[in-house]
This record gives sequence, C-alpha cells and structure tokens, in this order.
Amino acid sequence: MARRLNRGASAELFARAQRALPGGVSSPVRAFKAVGGTPLFFASADGAWFTDADGNRYLDFVQSWGPSILGHAHPEVVAAVQAAAARGLSFGAPHAGEVELAERVKALYPGVDRVRFTSSGTEATMSAIRLARGATGRSRLVKFSGCYHGHSDGLLVAAGSGAITFGQPSSAGVPAEIARLTSVLPLDDEQALAALFAAHGREIAAVILEPVPANNGLLLQRPEFLRRLRELCTQHGALLIFDEVISGFRVALGGAAELYGVQPDLATFGKILGGGMPVGAFAGPAPLFEHLAPLGPVYQAGTLSGNPVAMAAGRATLQVLQRDGVLAKLDRLGHRMESRLQPALQRSDWPVAFCRLGSLFWFAFGARTAPTRAEDVAGDAAALYRTFHAECLDAGVYLAPSAYEVGFLSAAHTEADIERATETMLQALAATFAEARR
Ligand SMILES: *Cc1c(COP(=O)(O)O)cnc(C)c1O
Repeated sequence: MARRLNRGASAELFARAQRALPGGVSSPVRAFKAVGGTPLFFASADGAWFTDADGNRYLDFVQSWGPSILGHAHPEVVAAVQAAAARGLSFGAPHAGEVELAERVKALYPGVDRVRFTSSGTEATMSAIRLARGATGRSRLVKFSGCYHGHSDGLLVAAGSGAITFGQPSSAGVPAEIARLTSVLPLDDEQALAALFAAHGREIAAVILEPVPANNGLLLQRPEFLRRLRELCTQHGALLIFDEVISGFRVALGGAAELYGVQPDLATFGKILGGGMPVGAFAGPAPLFEHLAPLGPVYQAGTLSGNPVAMAAGRATLQVLQRDGVLAKLDRLGHRMESRLQPALQRSDWPVAFCRLGSLFWFAFGARTAPTRAEDVAGDAAALYRTFHAECLDAGVYLAPSAYEVGFLSAAHTEADIERATETMLQALAATFAEARR
C-alpha cells in the first residue's frame, strides 16, 4: 500500500550523528531502536506537519511528545518568543514574565498558591520529591510501575515481583541503596496500596504518580482508585504528588486534578507549560513552599529557571489554549478518530485495543481491551507495533517510534487530517495482522 519514501539524507545524517552523539541522538527513544530503521531527521515543522531532511512531509502525531499542543511553530507563540528574545535571552534575575505565568498556573490548577519553575520535567519531579521529604522529614518514596517521572536516580526504579517491593534500579548507574528508598506498586490496585500503607505508612514521604499514566501506553485509571490513594496519603501524612507533565493543561486546563476532582498536595508540570521551550514547574499550597529555599531549608535552584523566553512561550500557549477553547476542539478531533477506528476494530478479530482520553491516544497491541496496569501490557506488543509503525511512516503518518508511547493530537490537526490518518492506520493494522498470521 505504501509508497517508499527516500530517506537518504536522514540516513547520511544519522551515520554522521552516531560519530558525534551517543547512539546518534540527544534522547534515547528518538533512535528508532524499538521499531528499527533510520530515525527521520527533522528539517522544519509547522502546525500538524513536519518536513524531513529529504523533503518528505509527514502528518505528526508525536508533536514533540506533547509540548506543541497548538501545533508546531504556532504564530502567536513564535511571536511571543521573538519579542522576548529581543529583550534579553536570560536575566538570572526576577522579571514580570515569570510572575505572570505563575499567576496563570495558579488560576488554572486546583490548590496551587506557589509555583517554582525549572527547566525540565525531570527537575520538577526530582525537586518536588525533595520538598516532600524536607517537609515531612521522611525518606520513602512510592511510585507505580509503568509511570515515568523523568530520569533522576530515585525515579528510575521498576517493580520487582511481589505487590509490595523495594525497588530495583531500572538503569545501570543507579545505586541499589538509592533505589531501595523507592517502593513500586502496580496501578489500579487498591489492595496493594492499602497493604503498603499498613506496613510502611509512617515512613512514606510522598506518593508520586501520573494520574493519567501515558508513558507505558495509556493506562487510564478509575477515579475511585485515585480517590482511595488520596485518602490513604492524607490518613498517613504522606504527600500526594500528581505528575502532570503530560496531562497538565491537556486533559483539562486544571489537569487530571480538575478532570477527576482529586487534589494532590504537589503537582509537577512541563511540556505544554513551556510551549516547546525547556520548562518544568512544581506547585502547591503556600505552607509547603515555606520549606523551599530561599524561605526554608530545602535547596533547589537553576541558572535558566524562569527563563524569559521560555516563560513567554508558556504564557502564549496557555493564553491561546484558554481563549480559543482548544481542549474542546481536541476532544472533538479525538472523538472523530475514535469513531472511525473503534467500529472497525470491533468488527475485526485483531488483537489490538484503541485507548483515548481527549487528545491522547494509544494502540494497545496484543490486547482486546484497554489495559490499566503495566503488568497487563502484552509482551508481543513491540513486535506487532514495528510493522504498524513502518506502514504508517511509509504512508506519511508519523507515530512515536515505540509501542509504549502515546499519540498526541494538536489544535493544528484538521478533521481531514484525522480522516486521512485513520484510513492509513486501518490499512496499516490490516497489513500488520496479515503479516503476523503468515
Ligand atoms: C516527559 C515527562 C517527564 C520528564 O520531563 P522532561 O522534560 O523530559 O525531563 C516527567 N514526567 C512525565 C509524566 C513525563 O511525561
């Protein structure tokens, strides 16, 4: 079905890149190792589309992994960045722009009085955990298997075998002594949660989770599970941290906290908050932030934190999101995609489920129903996805180069783009399962 696109220039650049960058990339998943072949080198991107180094155009459902919710190079965001850049790239001093963005976050997110900016989501979660430990005087951290919170040592920890486990490092270079301070639980399991709190409740400084887990596929949780987690944290004096780096300003303007009506003690942001520039933040009630330097003893800092250009991109992005009712439009697009795909999947006997929340979507290969835990994601998903991804790519539809990454819709996608993409996806699914049967 697919036309073969020329990828000579990308292949040449990749060969060169591998002699200058480890694995040819600045972040691992970009290397296409999970799907095979050569990663595409981007030349430029606008709206829902990008152009690669060979001049091919692709409909982009990665959108920089979420930040460009308005589409690539949105004119208002670009103008805000250009105007800010002309006034100075970095001050290393206070300025009005960071106050304005913090005020916007306060207005949108439930329970936020104070916002500390960082330059990445990783820094935001790492610092939120330090604040939680400093404020509670406790050391233990609880995370959930399948949730990703950036690459700081204590968060690169995977589940062991039992329901209550002390974490094993999931990366070389993370000392076992550090990983042991992290407990890992399965998602969607109130019993495991209650058992951990019963055994270790008084040691737990914080529980961190993606309330909309979107880094191991899209593992949508029952609101009752989130409410139970909230109750247990409150009962045991542990702080609840919602990592809203993907879900913040996307599943609702007030993130998953607004969507599910469950308020965390601390929230972390990134991606959309920077509108494509490097930004993260952690935020919460004023009394907690009394513990943070310069007010208190918990140290956290950053040369480029609150960077004026990045703050301008974030302000412009949130302003357009709010003003233009973008999230409602995205939900309509997502619904259209779902309404094209779901009936075809139902009619077929293909082992694949389509999962969606608003503008996030995911094909769960190897399953007929949407999984809610990392442990339930099928082992053969990656092999099936390899074919599906290659078929879509050849037809000019760019999906994440990993079976476990979600797709992102942007405000720049049109209904026609969705029609075209779903047609391509259905053909790619047919090809994938025809090949799997051979
Ligand atoms: C992307 C992501 C992070 C890490 O953010 P970086 O800016 O890549 O450091 C943390 N948490 C979640 C939920 C993410 O999706």
